[in-house]
Amino acid sequence: MTAEVTSLYADWKKIYPRYQIGFFRNLRFIIYGLELGIFFILPWVRWERVGVDVNQAVLFDLPERKFYIFNWVVWPQDIFLLAFLLIAAAIGLFFITALAGRVFCGYMCVQTVWTDWFLLVEKWFEGNRNRRVKLDQSPWNREKLLIKFGKQLVWLLISAWTGITFTLYFADAPVLLQQYYAGSAPFPAWFTFLFLMLTTYIMAGFAREQVCIYMCPYARFQGVMFDEDSLIVAYHPEFGEPRESNRRNREQMGNRVGACIDCNSCVTVCPTGIDIRNGQQYECITCAACIDACDSVRQKVGFEPRLIRYTSLREMGGGKTRFIRVRVVAYALLLTLCLGGIVGYLANHSPLEFTVIGHRQPLYILQSDGSIQNNFTVRVLNMTDTQQTYALDVTGLPGATLTVGAVNNRDSQGHPLLTVPPGSVTPFSVYLRQARDHVVSGRQEIFFILSAQASLGGTSTYKSIFMRP
Ligand code: SF4
Ligand code: SF4
Repeated sequence: MTAEVTSLYADWKKIYPRYQIGFFRNLRFIIYGLELGIFFILPWVRWERVGVDVNQAVLFDLPERKFYIFNWVVWPQDIFLLAFLLIAAAIGLFFITALAGRVFCGYMCVQTVWTDWFLLVEKWFEGNRNRRVKLDQSPWNREKLLIKFGKQLVWLLISAWTGITFTLYFADAPVLLQQYYAGSAPFPAWFTFLFLMLTTYIMAGFAREQVCIYMCPYARFQGVMFDEDSLIVAYHPEFGEPRESNRRNREQMGNRVGACIDCNSCVTVCPTGIDIRNGQQYECITCAACIDACDSVRQKVGFEPRLIRYTSLREMGGGKTRFIRVRVVAYALLLTLCLGGIVGYLANHSPLEFTVIGHRQPLYILQSDGSIQNNFTVRVLNMTDTQQTYALDVTGLPGATLTVGAVNNRDSQGHPLLTVPPGSVTPFSVYLRQARDHVVSGRQEIFFILSAQASLGGTSTYKSIFMRP
């Protein structure tokens, strides 16, 4: 007796989604166009920054460890903001999912956007669904070879341009492009470009719906973000069933027929190949292509549209969808807190940072006039894009005199003036002396204060210790 082997995996069947125009198709086009436009154009947008060579609006300068995003320069010490932004993005995703289901998958996800673009190219070369099916079933000949070759070539060009564009965010775009042309681009750039080109080509050209169904973790855990008020795309069996393609016969026989004419249009347009009439399925990315398809069919046959529509489980059960509910409000509050925190930090963040390191060899110097001197190294980071001059002051030490090595300039109140070029760190040797009349024994807590002369240069304070015998 031989044991029967059952595969745990379903055989892959190629899906030929039919192209269908309609309201939601147009809406998706607009969103996809915006997304692609921003991605491909942004590295080419120039942005003047006074005193800095970098004139690219968005540049992630990894060697310098600085991110330029229009007027905002993210320094390594601000990197936690990016973590906050990622947290905000995750909460935003929870919020939008609780409210509108998998609308992110159908309208914004890069996998959907690039797959749709590749499908358009496929349609342009091979025709709409029926012609594509026929072409795949037909024997290879010169025409089929040319069509397939043309499609693959355009796919590869799109993939290459996607990979190149991604790398342009990490270097001066025109320079890097020239380096690619001359073959002299650095290895990490080549590697990233080729890796992204390959993954785009495979994911959008071949893996397509498999990514959404099997690979994407979001599809798996989205269930916990849903509730019965979240928007879903659903078929309404109470209107549609019993479905019947040959309505006249059934009606003549006196049988009740539902509004669904069983034309299969909603199935043939589905990018994940499911039949929405079978109920809610995790493969559904809420793209609403089936709504467009059903609306178009039903307008042609003269029935009321919207057999398939955006609804909620509560609405399907006869209730009314509640958009404002605890879960949605909680996500909205968290999102507001997170974004508010980022905006607040940016609004109050000083574009100036400095550190003070007290010299420990020796801890203090007893001068011939009886005063005590401590030496410090002050490192000043100017995070603006212009040269700044800062006045250095100290508080908490009566009878104090500040001197900065190689700096003779002082402001009207006698504070030493430190000049720091834009976007750089400059160290200064600082000598702090306390006059004999004020000296008492022991350590003294003091505060260094650095204030920019220009209004946008910032002010910062640093706590330190003055050492005495
Ligand atoms: S069932 Fe409809 S909404 Fe869901 S993926 Fe298919 S076409 Fe898109
Ligand atoms: S497109 Fe509409 S009418 Fe046609 S099979 Fe689907 S639900 Fe029925």
